[in-house]
Amino acid sequence: MSSRRQTQRAPVTSPAAATVFTTVLTQGPVSRVDVARRTGLSSAAVTKAARPLIEAGYLVELDSEQGNVGRPASPLDVQADREFFVGVKITDSELIGVVTDLKARIHTAKHRRLTSRKADAVVSDVAELVGDLTYDSPRYRKRTWTLGVTVAGDVDRVSGLVRYSPFLHWRDVQLAEPVAEATGLDTIVDNDVKALTVAEQWFGDGIGAQSFALVTLGTGIGCGLVINGGVVNGAHGVAGEIGHIPVSGDGPLCHCGATGCVEAIASTDAIVAQARTATGEPGLTMDEVITGARMGDVALRRVFARAGVAIGRGLAAMANLAGPERIVVSGEGLDAYDLFADEIRETFATQAFGAAAQCELILRPLPFEEWARGAAAVAVRTLFES
Ligand SMILES: [Zn+2]
Repeated sequence: MSSRRQTQRAPVTSPAAATVFTTVLTQGPVSRVDVARRTGLSSAAVTKAARPLIEAGYLVELDSEQGNVGRPASPLDVQADREFFVGVKITDSELIGVVTDLKARIHTAKHRRLTSRKADAVVSDVAELVGDLTYDSPRYRKRTWTLGVTVAGDVDRVSGLVRYSPFLHWRDVQLAEPVAEATGLDTIVDNDVKALTVAEQWFGDGIGAQSFALVTLGTGIGCGLVINGGVVNGAHGVAGEIGHIPVSGDGPLCHCGATGCVEAIASTDAIVAQARTATGEPGLTMDEVITGARMGDVALRRVFARAGVAIGRGLAAMANLAGPERIVVSGEGLDAYDLFADEIRETFATQAFGAAAQCELILRPLPFEEWARGAAAVAVRTLFES
């Protein structure tokens, strides 16, 4: 990522500054003493690291709380609107964009249909959406320097290259450079599920957990894994592929070429395909499948129950291997939450080994803007990655 705007940005000039800033960002307001206690830095080091951030307007001291002995302890907090960030998620048919503040709170959101899936057309569409988003407010125009763009598939964050995107049919598309050129913003490109994991780790249910996993249910089944505070990438860029854990040896066939994968049973497409077979109605849509199951159609309920069991087995396999404190299950597939939540929980409890069953399962729908917020969180994170 280029650094042409670095002079205007937060002066994060040392590892201690990055530690103090991220601690206040994710856990603030917090006193200097508590920052020191939580990070292992000395109080003097915290004060020294915080000073330039306060001077640059990124951190603020809140009003003193008088302690018992009359000694003021002014907690530090982030000045959230000191800088804004744009996040854009690219799907196969549209763009979802948001402007967030430093705490990744969404200030405005917009959608835009893609004019084409060709890379240069997508770059123009992204630039127009970013223009629309930031046009709304002079504050955004003056204090937005970084854009995060996310896409499903194999993405090389460092070079800004989309190696493979199945939904867009892209191979080896350089995305960061042309988008930066077209928008005038420093641009970081990342995988969509990894980005959502960062948002969850810093600003969501992952706060305070050293190890946790985010699982997204939908057209695909994705997973971001955080172990000992770091997002796991894997030696070959593949890790946490819960969607392709085999949970049913004899089938069905998965699009990946293997058999019995979680995704072959529990993805949105798989659920619709099984529902069509079960009912003999080839035109069924996912909405109709959900409605029918909610009305008590036994065959359709069985399809969801089977999906819930497959997901529960996949989650248990991951808990047994990686031992996360917490697993957040989310995604547009959770719109049908009521139809398989019990099966997910029961199967997980049965299959998780020993104490791994203590792993907390959080099942939660995911509004589509959250994907774009993930992209913005990746942009926020660049503050600490110089
Ligand atoms: Zn598979």
